[in-house]
Amino acid sequence: MLNIVIFGPPGSGKGTQSENLIKEYNLAHISTGDLLRKEINTNTELGALAKSYIDKGELVPDEVIINMIDSYLDRMGRVNGVIFDGFPRTVAQAGALRDLLKTYKTKINVCLNLEVPNDELMKRLIERGKTSGRSDDNEETIAKRLATYEKQTKPVLDFYKKEGVAANIKGIGEISAIFDDIKAAVDAKK
Ligand code: AMP
Repeated sequence: MLNIVIFGPPGSGKGTQSENLIKEYNLAHISTGDLLRKEINTNTELGALAKSYIDKGELVPDEVIINMIDSYLDRMGRVNGVIFDGFPRTVAQAGALRDLLKTYKTKINVCLNLEVPNDELMKRLIERGKTSGRSDDNEETIAKRLATYEKQTKPVLDFYKKEGVAANIKGIGEISAIFDDIKAAVDAKK
């Protein structure tokens, strides 16, 4: 299997580049943010819980997220590999993912770290907020999400560095040029 973590702050292009990766490598895709928004839109209990965190720019508790990933993997069937998008966002989630993948006799091959400066992230997310309909794409919540990323999510990168699978990718410029760098990094690790 080819398992990829697409990593980076909010607005770094994880969703966009996931779409390119899906096409190029024929992979399954799991975005925990998308799954949570689906729960919100269908008014589930989990959705209501998630919304209370998302609207504050905070992380949904690890246990909730890990359960979601566990049941996704359980139902997934045979695939070439999986792109994990927006997950793991804490070191505890990264450890839980490693343990879960072990039970499937597989692992993360590469963690792609999309690097984009904060002022550019802010600009992109405010622009996206004009059409995304996302309640968390407003200036105040964006600032909180960026702070949450620095404090709780960035340490995940050290986890993957220690595993020898982290690859830094410059996340600014043409989408297709960024994807060329991504392909080179994936092909080097697969
Ligand atoms: P995203 O669409 O990936 O930007 O996620 C939107 C929001 O959903 C985040 O700001 C978090 O509140 C929540 N969320 C998504 N993925 C996770 C995760 N792996 N762990 C905790 N919270 C998450």
